[in-house]
Amino acid sequence: MTKTYHNYVDGEWVGSTTGETFETTNPAAPDEVVAEYPAAGDEDAERAIRAANEAASAWAATPGPERGAILRRAAGILDDRSEELTERLTAEEGKTHAEAGGEVQRAVDIFYYFAEQARDLAGERKAASGPDTNLYTREEPVGVAALITPWNYPIAIPAWKLAPALAAGTTAVLKPASLAPGPAVELFEALDEAGLPDGVANVVTASGSTGSYMVAHEDVDAVSFTGSTAVGTQVYETAVDRGARAQCEMGGKNPTVVAADADPAAAAEIVAAGGFGVTGQACTACSRAIVHEDVHDEFVSELVAAAEPIEIGPGDEYDMGPQVSETELEGTLDYVDVAADDGATLATGGGRPAGDRFGDGYFVEPTVFTDVDRDDRIAQEEVFGPVVAVIEVGDFEEAVAVANDSDYGLSASVVTDDHTTANRFIDEVEAGVAKVNEKTTGLELHVPFGGVKDSSTETWREQGRRGLDFYTLTKTVYDN
Ligand code: NAD
Repeated sequence: MTKTYHNYVDGEWVGSTTGETFETTNPAAPDEVVAEYPAAGDEDAERAIRAANEAASAWAATPGPERGAILRRAAGILDDRSEELTERLTAEEGKTHAEAGGEVQRAVDIFYYFAEQARDLAGERKAASGPDTNLYTREEPVGVAALITPWNYPIAIPAWKLAPALAAGTTAVLKPASLAPGPAVELFEALDEAGLPDGVANVVTASGSTGSYMVAHEDVDAVSFTGSTAVGTQVYETAVDRGARAQCEMGGKNPTVVAADADPAAAAEIVAAGGFGVTGQACTACSRAIVHEDVHDEFVSELVAAAEPIEIGPGDEYDMGPQVSETELEGTLDYVDVAADDGATLATGGGRPAGDRFGDGYFVEPTVFTDVDRDDRIAQEEVFGPVVAVIEVGDFEEAVAVANDSDYGLSASVVTDDHTTANRFIDEVEAGVAKVNEKTTGLELHVPFGGVKDSSTETWREQGRRGLDFYTLTKTVYDN
């Protein structure tokens, strides 16, 4: 099953100038090598940026419908390969087959969506001062974009940056995360087969230091980053300081508020889906359940009852896959110790599951802590594993205050049947996405996505029609 990948630079499949390679392994069975990649360095990024610059004006001049047609053909190719892509995504990143299949489908749909948007790029016609004057705006490509992505949605996130960039007429260099770059490279195989002109989109499989080289590069006009807040903050400063446009989507500590009127079983199902889905490795994962005292005890019993039957294991027969790496697994287990030291009560989980099928895989149990104080580290820091901290509150005002008592502000939800409570929550919660009676994870691709506070640099949104804005410049035309 080992696949040898190459970088795609100026329309050619190439190795790295370093001559070195690196491997990825299966998080469910770490002895199994999944793929080999060129270990690209700064010189490879340099070549890719040069190619993207050389291709920029011809791509900008390519009519939107033609750009869209290439994206549509690539979407069809990806769709035809979805089963194989799903297998590879599961093998490299660890999502269950169902979760990986959903993610691959999302990437296909994103390509189709932006294929249509490329046809529909529009300016605005404005009232002019006289009959001989045309006054209007047009959307022009921003130039060359550097796209830097994390491992946790290894095909959907690269797709939701690459597709709008290409639709807008912007050229791009993508650097996916080294833990699971394969699915992103597959996007370029599809684009190549779909007839994308040379140099328009390039991918280099490199470490973070080459990412930082790209961010600092004078010939990169726009930097779109998704990843941790620590790295994203640096990326933003570097890019903006040199006058580039930057968009950074970062971490989360997403709350679900369970109101006094909520059905505890329904609330537990929502929290479990948001907290344990994709093994808790989502920026929007629910990691705090903020629960009214009237329903707290019943909610905790229901959440434990929802967590314990979750079948952990590799591939397609189980409900929850492994964490992506030993480092991520150890990070989660460290937080289990931290929470216990801070006085929280372990209600379920907290360790690695025992049994033959787990081998050396990076599996961890779905974990629930109760008696969590709002200031505890488990209530404040992003764990990025399947761990939910339950915080008991006395009333709705306190619930919203606790929800907002976070450096992050990505996704937040409330469970209630009361309209006023729901509307107050939507008004008062500090988050880029507010949900009612829904898990914190998951969102339709045609609506804007992004956070506030330390979750996002806020100026731009990804996905939906607004996702194109980052890759375009508005020109106002006064034509007399
Ligand atoms: P990370 O910040 O470690 O890495 C992200 C990317 O940045 C990788 O490609 C990495 O190689 C690169 N990188 C590392 N150092 C760099 C530097 N100095 N300059 C430029 N690039 C550099 O994040 P990760 O571990 O891959 O992903 C997990 C994080 O991503 C979590 O915090 C999660 O919340 C966040 N995330 C956010 C969203 C969102 O939309 N808000 C979505 C998914 C994941």
